[in-house]
Amino acid sequence: MTAITAPRGTRDILPAESWKWSYIISTASRTMRDFGFSEIHLPIFEHTELFSRGVGETTDIVEKEMYTFTDRGGRSITLRPEATAGVMRAAIENNLCAQGASAKLWSWGPMFRHERPQKGRYRQFYQIDAECLGIAGPMADVEVIALSLELFRRLGLKNLEVVINSVGCEKCRPVYRQKLVEYFSSHKSELCGTCLDRLGRNPLRILDCKNESCGHVADGAPDIFDSLCDECREHFAEVRAGLERLGFTYTVSKRLVRGLDYYTKTAYEILSGDLGAQNAVAGGGRYDNLSSAIGGGKIPGVGFACGLDRVALVMEEQGCSFGERPGVAVYCVAMDDESRGTVQALTHSLRMAGISAECDTAGRGFKAQMRAAGSCRFACIVGADERAGGTVAVKNLADGSQVSVKACDVAGYIGGKL
Ligand SMILES: [Zn+2]
Ligand SMILES: [Zn+2]
Repeated sequence: MTAITAPRGTRDILPAESWKWSYIISTASRTMRDFGFSEIHLPIFEHTELFSRGVGETTDIVEKEMYTFTDRGGRSITLRPEATAGVMRAAIENNLCAQGASAKLWSWGPMFRHERPQKGRYRQFYQIDAECLGIAGPMADVEVIALSLELFRRLGLKNLEVVINSVGCEKCRPVYRQKLVEYFSSHKSELCGTCLDRLGRNPLRILDCKNESCGHVADGAPDIFDSLCDECREHFAEVRAGLERLGFTYTVSKRLVRGLDYYTKTAYEILSGDLGAQNAVAGGGRYDNLSSAIGGGKIPGVGFACGLDRVALVMEEQGCSFGERPGVAVYCVAMDDESRGTVQALTHSLRMAGISAECDTAGRGFKAQMRAAGSCRFACIVGADERAGGTVAVKNLADGSQVSVKACDVAGYIGGKL
């Protein structure tokens, strides 16, 4: 019979890698706490409508990439392709932003998109996500961008570039959209098939097409800054001033539009030179219309998401530290079969004292047990003599020294040396 494998675009995060993920998540958790963000956990599947209305009907995500199915109750359900819409849904449903309150929330977990798998890109991929809801002013944008950069600073990432843009609001974007349609319509022959299709429905997305010819046309496109309304213009200026006040450098790119319809005003990405063309390690921005698009009234928001798979990949490539790989401190060794029960009891007593400890449960011989102990700080060895005397031979595996310790004192002795 053929062995069953993981579906295309998914992978197993095995122990050799998972401890590095734990390091990234615990670093994120501390960073979020230091910025006043609280952790939330949300459903992995939602009503399809949340994404079609929130992310946008004409986005690549909703048109081509969602895992959507009808459940046994006949409802259309979608595995979340991104986190923001779900966070906003939860804030609305639980009244987190009632009476002008604000909420700073973070989360991490798997997202799902049916894309062509490539290096660092999976169909089940993981994101760390932070959202600041209920605040319309530019200081919140600055805080979110600063939060993502501080996370990456703590993780030791180098050679990052911050790119920012304003994508306008519901007042000024339609004007810009019309200018783009006119401009791109006069360059139809130079656009790729996808962009010809976007022209009528989502012309802003032509600006970030990776096709060379489209990029060339996009470089000459009208600048959004000529179309921004006063409010958007002022907001963007204040975000820039805030970033400069905190000492961050950035570049402004009029071609940065992000692939989701809900963005308003600020859009930003953090790029790593070490990921080639697929080089964004984080991206985000402001989404003041998302809430009303999903039926929640006016709740402004700004946030970011970063790809855990990609961050781990860049850290690996840049030789960043993941801290110390966790392992057990003590291995308890039975010299003979008669001592195995005593050794398991000793192991359990160490664990109850909060000392990480292991023993052999597979019936392996003394030599194999000592080999297994090799990665630990101490070996606690029990044989006939030890059982008779109520003692344990405690071997310091770093320097090879060995002492005899009363069985009841082993936890105290080792605990004092760790
Ligand atoms: Zn505007
Ligand atoms: Zn194109």
